Amino acid sequence: MNSNHRKTITRRRLIHYSLSTGALLGVSSIFPSLLMAGSQAAAIEHPIHHPQKYTDKGRCPNCGMMLNMWARTRHEFSNSEGSHTTCSPRCLADMSKNSGETPNNIKVALYLHPEKMVAADKAFYVIGSSAKGTMTMKSKVAFLTEEEAKNFVSEYGGTLVDYTTALTAATKELAASRMKIEGKRKKKGEIVEPTSENRCLVCGMYPARFPKHRAQVSMADGSHQHFCSNQCLVHFMADQKKYLKIPEKVKSIWVTVYPDGGYEYAMGLYYLVGSNIMGPMGKEALPYRLKSDADSAAEEHGGSVIHFRALNPSKVMTP
Ligand SMILES: [Zn+2]
Ligand SMILES: [Zn+2]
Repeated sequence: MNSNHRKTITRRRLIHYSLSTGALLGVSSIFPSLLMAGSQAAAIEHPIHHPQKYTDKGRCPNCGMMLNMWARTRHEFSNSEGSHTTCSPRCLADMSKNSGETPNNIKVALYLHPEKMVAADKAFYVIGSSAKGTMTMKSKVAFLTEEEAKNFVSEYGGTLVDYTTALTAATKELAASRMKIEGKRKKKGEIVEPTSENRCLVCGMYPARFPKHRAQVSMADGSHQHFCSNQCLVHFMADQKKYLKIPEKVKSIWVTVYPDGGYEYAMGLYYLVGSNIMGPMGKEALPYRLKSDADSAAEEHGGSVIHFRALNPSKVMTP
């Protein structure tokens, strides 16, 4: 065995060791070539594709992404609606803005040790490094100690900040990130605009003609089902067998935010039901982004405000 060969094996072992333990800070000093081009922090697997489980929570309640994949940037918090785990500080900021509530008991996963979570106000955040962002261009990743965070900055760039500064930055980016996120979801085929031929699976009307109310479901087999309105969507969700010959698992549900338009993940919104605002099929569940907007609409137009998980046909159809 010549010395070059031996060196290669040693390097491979080191890479394997580093990836399996998460002890990645040293990688760039051993392999400066890893940092030569493009996504410099690519050596750290984010999103995570390896089988290890870091959280048993399924999807981010705000954006629908799988939490285990995005475990390195996940946050936990509670408010009057319950306890939540989000994929990112971005979704924490979004849920706080939408609910109008200040989040409590916030915990953040450690970027290099995603199995661990610590109190967010004790963590050291690095924003804008070459680490890939979660739901945003500018990443915000957390570390246990100031030294770890400083080491990360010296290797991957970015700025060392505290939790409050990181959350403020995430909140400021919300408006600009929305269009980008919808564009990305369409590009990846998660959301597919209905064509002029697509019919509502429940009533047979054309969803493309109702841009303020249309909804869609992406199924586990990669297909999409379109609906003219949330009234039809809710009927489908309550009894899939009635509308599909071969029932299929639902992957994600996308609804049109009222009244601004644009598709959004259905679970994170506030629904006004029982109001006098009618949709394509009459009575409607109208999804608002801000709870305060939904509450104001209820005051003006009657009805009540509920979460998607509380929706069912009788809630939509009853005045
Ligand atoms: Zn999310
Ligand atoms: Zn319909």
